[in-house]
This record gives sequence, C-alpha cells and structure tokens, in this order.
Amino acid sequence: MSATPVSMLDHALTRLDEAARHLQIDGDVLEKLRFPRETMQVRLMIRMDDGSRKSFMAWRCRYDDTRGPTKGGIRFHPDATADEVETLAFWMTFKCAVMNLPYGGGKGAIRVDPHALSKAELERLSRAYMQAFSRVVGPDRDIPAPDVYTNAMIMGWMADEYSSIVGATTPAVITGKPIALGGSLGREDATARGGYYLVRRLATELGVKPGARVAIQGFGNAGQHIARLMAGDGYRIVAISDSHGCLHAPDGLDVTALIGAKAQHGSLAAPEAAAAAGSQARLLPAEALIGIDCDILVPAAMEDLIHRDNAGEVKAKLVLELANGPITPEADAMLEKRGVVVLPDILANAGGVTVSYFEWVQNRQGYYWTVEEVHARLKASMETEGLAIWQRARDSRISMRSAAYVHALARLAQAIEAHGTQKFFTA
Ligand code: GLU
Repeated sequence: MSATPVSMLDHALTRLDEAARHLQIDGDVLEKLRFPRETMQVRLMIRMDDGSRKSFMAWRCRYDDTRGPTKGGIRFHPDATADEVETLAFWMTFKCAVMNLPYGGGKGAIRVDPHALSKAELERLSRAYMQAFSRVVGPDRDIPAPDVYTNAMIMGWMADEYSSIVGATTPAVITGKPIALGGSLGREDATARGGYYLVRRLATELGVKPGARVAIQGFGNAGQHIARLMAGDGYRIVAISDSHGCLHAPDGLDVTALIGAKAQHGSLAAPEAAAAAGSQARLLPAEALIGIDCDILVPAAMEDLIHRDNAGEVKAKLVLELANGPITPEADAMLEKRGVVVLPDILANAGGVTVSYFEWVQNRQGYYWTVEEVHARLKASMETEGLAIWQRARDSRISMRSAAYVHALARLAQAIEAHGTQKFFTA
C-alpha cells in the first residue's frame, strides 16, 4: 500500500499541533484551524494580443475569518497550486494574529508566468481575476494585496475593476495600491523594513554586532529593500542572489549600484551587474548563496529554499525569513539543533501586511498619514510583538518559530472560544 503523499498544508499544520502542546486550548479551536474555510477555483479566460484566447487557473482561499476579514496577497506564478494557496492562507491567519491585526488569513494566485505576457495582457488577466472573485473579496470580507510577481500597478487595476463592478470607489478592497489611487506611503518597502526593525530591536539579545555580514537570497521587492536598509545601517552585504546567479564579495557589495543594474538588465548574472557590484565581486551559481560565510542569512524569495539536503551548508547564526516558508520543518529542526536562530516568516515578514492594515485604515478614514507616522507605527508593532515572542521563546525554552505560533494561537483561540465552544454549551 502506498502512503498518501503529504501536502504542503499538512507540513504547515505540524506547526499548529506543536504550538497547541504549549497551551491549554479547546479541541474546537484546532478543529476550526485545521481546514481552510473556503477555496474558490476559477479558470480565467482572456484575449491575447494576437487575437487568440487563453485560459489560466486561479484561486482565492479564505482560510479563517474569526478575527476579522481575511487578508493576504495574490501571486502570479507558473507553479502556483491550490495546496500552496491554502498553505499561504494558513500562514497569513497566523501572521495577522502574531501582529494583532483585526484580520483572518487569505491568499490568492494565478498559475501564469507574468514575464511571458505583454502589459496589456497582464492588465486583462488582473481585471479578469477581480471579475471572477468579486463575490469573494470586499473591504469587510477579504482584502487582497501584492505577493510574488504582483505589484502596485496590478493592485491599481484590480481596485479599479472592483470599483466598476460595485459602482462605487472602493479603495479598501485591496492594499498595496499606487499612492495616487489610495495607497499608503511606506507600503512599498514595508516587508523589508519590518524585518529590519525587528533585527535592530533584538540585536543585543541575538548577539548581532555592528557591521555584521549579511547574505540575501532573492533580489525582488523584499531583497532589494532589505539590502538597502541594512547597508545604510552599516551591515556588510557580502552576497546577493537571484534566480540567475549569486554575487559574492567578502568586503561587501555596492548595493545601490546593484539595484540600478538589476532594474536595467533584469539579472544579477549580466556582466554589467558583476561590474556594478564592485571589483572584488565574483559571480557564483545561484545555489551557492545558502553556504556563504556570513552572520545573517535572509531568504527573500520562495518556499522550501532550505531543506534536509542543504540545511547543513548554512553557516549563518541567524536567519531572517523575509520569504514565506523558506525552511522546511525538517531543515528547521536541523538548524535548531545546531543553535541557529530563525526569526520566523509570520513575524519577520509581517511588516508588509501591517502597513497593508494601515492602508486599509486610511482608506476607510479617508484621511492619510505621513511616511513618518507609518514608519513609527510599524516600528512600534514590530518591536512590541518581536519582544513578546522573544521573551516567550526564552521563558519556555522554545524556538522563535514555536513561540510565534504559540503567541498567535493564543489570540486565535481566544477569538474562537469567544464564539462559544462545547464547554460553553454543556456547562
Ligand atoms: N503578500 C504579503 C504577505 O505574504 C502581504 C500581504 C498583505 O499585505 O495583505 O505577507
């Protein structure tokens, strides 16, 4: 008899069971959190520039809405699956609870390689997504945002499409919009900035020294901004990779020049990028990044980067997870055993959804904040939740990841129990 293949969601749920062992919570809570509430799957049809019609599979999952409307990004990726969308929505549920945002968790995706589409095709596809899912989303129901390979321009098209469908300007239906369409100042670099504030606040506790060496995997939104913020604060960015290659310079890379070269040439493997990185820089295969000699490793791209077979290569003593799910549970256990501290995704990259929340609040108030206000509130939230999780990890002698799950589960359990549990009705 062959064993049932373990889904990505099953892997993710092991964190829930682990966290539940540290709390006295009702069985009803686990029953509620073990399954996605609803996942809608639609085949989108659009007309291509050459006149032909093409279809694309798309999903939106609302995992749990006990603490508020569901919240989470939409990714455009050729490998997207329903299982991945549900797993990412599960993580969003915990991420929003970690940060005490009044939201549940959701996620969406289209299975597409957006780089293979023209801008006009991309616009038609984005609008088609909103048309198909307009009954699922809404400012009090489910609020999407950018994720892998989606951006402010796409959020703007979707906000516009939703507003036409309901016949009223409704900016609060989606976050990460262009500033001119009701976006928030400070949303663009919020994911990286949140992680940066977290490391800065916990630097003493984590033993992070000024000038610490950093290696960054992924040079998209999160990767570029964390490189810029940390380099500006005196950290040495010794390696950066994208899917094409890894640039390495033990004395530090020229981050500003590299951001320019990436925008112009699209790849870190382009000869111009190596030249921009500085005379000491060497081009290595993309996979070399994981094993680079550094103090802080920052995965800032996709899931499952560090797994059983390469976890042993990690030399860093600290990992800042700006990507969602970059370490498999097996690799996580291996790193923990070796004393590597992991600042987990549901805390480390929560700056993005936190500023999304600020954007939604501003849209509903119709009153907009300065970038200084956004930064100050983001910093306060990252520091409060980061410190509370650090203390829980230390007091209970558990990893930061377990502590973050326990921290979130306590809040989720409170909300679920407040709706009434079996105990409540039999008492
Ligand atoms: N996609 C981002 C995440 O995974 C942001 C979600 C949001 O802003 O709602 O956290």
